[in-house]
Amino acid sequence: MYTCDICGTEYKTDAAMRGCMKKDKDVLDEINKKAADKRKARKQFGSPNFRLEAEGRLGMERRWVNDTRDRIQKMMARGYEKVQSEGESVRKVIAGTKEDGSAMYAYLMEIEKVLYDEDQKAKQDEIDDKESAIYRGENDKLGGNGYVPKEGIKVHNAFRR
Ligand SMILES: [Zn+2]
Repeated sequence: MYTCDICGTEYKTDAAMRGCMKKDKDVLDEINKKAADKRKARKQFGSPNFRLEAEGRLGMERRWVNDTRDRIQKMMARGYEKVQSEGESVRKVIAGTKEDGSAMYAYLMEIEKVLYDEDQKAKQDEIDDKESAIYRGENDKLGGNGYVPKEGIKVHNAFRR
């Protein structure tokens, strides 16, 4: 009997046992590679440099955006650009692992602060709008058939000033 040193399975031939060891080693290598990627990403996210970079520059608003699904494209459609200093490549860090096991990057993106502020205001207006609909007991704006009592609903919302 030949025993695989890695998983402990017993084989009748040396060749079969060696085959198992090779397969086991590939599996472990793959797992260790993923762990190494993650370790790198965790270090980068935790480092003071990483936080500093996202603080941005005058008149611009910066943020790290994960390259997952179509998020980068959506951000670009909203006016964000990948940060790229003169003579440098785009700023990106490994932020995790995609479903297929490949590395997922996060890109440093920026947008003019004036546009950023407009977006924030539009978001707040939408929240205010929805809230007043709730206060009035209107359903149509909420897109649902939720039950609203005659007296309306009291909403406790930290956004409301
Ligand atoms: Zn084995």
